[in-house]
Amino acid sequence: MEVDSANSRHAALLKRKATDSINEILNYGQSSTSPQKRTKKTAHHKIRDIDAYKKIIKTYKAPTWYGCAVTPRDLADFGWACVKKDCVQCVECEQYLNTSLPNICKVSFNVYNSSLQDIHQKLTTAHRTTCKLRTGAPPFRITEPSSKEIMEGVQGRLTDIKNIEEDEFKVDIPSDLHLPKLEGVSDKFMYVAILGWFVSKPKRGALIFCCDYCARELAIRTGNKFDAIHNHERWCPRIDSDEHGETSWQSDINIVMNTKNYFPHHNKYHGSAIYREAMAARRLLDNSLSTIISPSLITPPSS
Ligand SMILES: [Zn+2]
Ligand SMILES: [Zn+2]
Repeated sequence: MEVDSANSRHAALLKRKATDSINEILNYGQSSTSPQKRTKKTAHHKIRDIDAYKKIIKTYKAPTWYGCAVTPRDLADFGWACVKKDCVQCVECEQYLNTSLPNICKVSFNVYNSSLQDIHQKLTTAHRTTCKLRTGAPPFRITEPSSKEIMEGVQGRLTDIKNIEEDEFKVDIPSDLHLPKLEGVSDKFMYVAILGWFVSKPKRGALIFCCDYCARELAIRTGNKFDAIHNHERWCPRIDSDEHGETSWQSDINIVMNTKNYFPHHNKYHGSAIYREAMAARRLLDNSLSTIISPSLITPPSS
């Protein structure tokens, strides 16, 4: 598909402006808060149930799930698991939600867009009124994980590397990246593990890379290159960026390496309704460019 570059540049500009305003809202109040207050944790922090999320995200697999403009992550945030084609079900109240969208080539942009908005609204309203998942899950990182937690995660993902040789796959590690060291673990394995990948070798000649945050599972022929960043789904929490543009895996490395100038980003609005709303709005916005295709982008360019 040809993409009208002027249009997509304009859309990118609008998206950036909107993201900036949301970031402003998210950071509002940070500078006026004293350090003492900033480190004091508020009592109403809800902790994200990561295991429940992982279980749900696993249901979004082909051929049942073949993609929709609403991402599995958005659906999982509200407790919706994929049960059959175009149909998700709440793991708590067992209500169903239809996720089918009209064919973008057959309906007007407005019709398509309002169907999409409709699904987004139903993420909340399709639950039973008493369902606790109606309000959506809190963000993944309300508080930073500890160095110990991060390294335990890394070690857990490296349990199968014993029978994998160093030269069985290639990766491009950014040259300025300082990786944590673990005895008997090369930088290559450390890099893929810190980026959230489980590596295994179920049979000769092939390696399997899995991410339990986006349920991506990739087989590569031994000796081939593996792109540890871009092989995640674009919505994967492993590659999320915070309000300062730092990805969660980079901040994991910084925590473990105790990098200078590193300050955990405490924000008195974390966990509050406005923070969650702003985070949700930003995610919607992040997804909007790649999921909503405006008619101008699908019209063939005039020659
Ligand atoms: Zn429900
Ligand atoms: Zn992932």
